[in-house]
Amino acid sequence: MIYFTPGPSQLYPTVKKHILNALKHDIASISHRSEAFHEIIRDINTSLKLLLSIPDEYQIFFLSSATECMERIIENCVHKKSFHFVNGAFSKRFYSVAADLKKSPLSHDANSGEGFEFKNIKIPKNSELIAITQNETSTGVAIPVEFINKLSNYNPESLIAVDITSSVPYVNLDYSKLDCVFFSVQKGFGLPSGLGVLIVSPRALKKSGMLQGKGVNIGSYHKFSSMLAQSQKLQTVETPNILGLYLFEKVLKDMLDMDIENIRLETDKKADMLYEYFKKHQKLKLFVVDKRYRSKTAIVVMTQSPSAQIIDKIKKGGYLVGSGYGSLRQNQIRIANFPSHTLKNVDNLLLSFNDL
Ligand SMILES: *Cc1c(COP(=O)(O)O)cnc(C)c1O
Repeated sequence: MIYFTPGPSQLYPTVKKHILNALKHDIASISHRSEAFHEIIRDINTSLKLLLSIPDEYQIFFLSSATECMERIIENCVHKKSFHFVNGAFSKRFYSVAADLKKSPLSHDANSGEGFEFKNIKIPKNSELIAITQNETSTGVAIPVEFINKLSNYNPESLIAVDITSSVPYVNLDYSKLDCVFFSVQKGFGLPSGLGVLIVSPRALKKSGMLQGKGVNIGSYHKFSSMLAQSQKLQTVETPNILGLYLFEKVLKDMLDMDIENIRLETDKKADMLYEYFKKHQKLKLFVVDKRYRSKTAIVVMTQSPSAQIIDKIKKGGYLVGSGYGSLRQNQIRIANFPSHTLKNVDNLLLSFNDL
């Protein structure tokens, strides 16, 4: 089966080999205080910064999931007010996390399947943090990087948090304009779930320290200061997902060998194939109408008949695609386009949609 589901998804082709090697070398038994572990963390730091062009002075923290990253960001960077762009289930979750933590979040909302127009948005100057989901996996909407850069330029006093869970490593961000960028690895990196990655600017670290100094509750073991102290020793606060970190390190190296430019070009090519195909399909319609917001890595199509029937039919050919998200579960199909999916995989997947 080839998993075109938007996460967990198809494993990156080298992962099976790396798992076997991990077993051979007892990676699951090594201490998270040992030199062998330090080496894994050191290599992830180097490779991830190289792959995504992250400035040297940024910190990389390892958490359990993208959802955990949302909570840690709000705790550590917001005393009272965050501002959220909400256009689907994941951006809504980020907003809800802030509300649950008793902050006073505000939001600018767009309809499902739509992006945001810069000129229509009023962000209060006292927003401590602006949160945006770059690729809304629930609806297949991607926010252009230029929009995010503009957000940063027009709101120099606010920290900027960006969820790139389903667009990493494809999305090419200017990290110097951003403060908290995060993802989990079971999507674009094609790895087993259970590992979240949070990239933090010096400015965000400073904000967290300031809140801590004021006696604001910034959480316990995963407050930035605790994670920073461990990270400087190439360690983590708790016993982490060591196998997950090992596999992440290996896949980062594989992707560096592939060259990120090639990965991005191939993703564009596959996205073109998918959009061109569904544009002409008799029974299926593209959900995101405005081309500027169509995600390259999560393609959403509307179905006339219940999507479960179509998913079942495609599955018989050896391809698993995702259902719609939430209330659109039965009316949509979601297809991931990650580095794990080859051109040939996409070609064959589309053939199986011919005779619906
Ligand atoms: C999948 C996803 C998440 C949640 O990831 P977890 O690892 O389950 O916490 C958050 N944001 C986006 C955009 C996602 O696609």
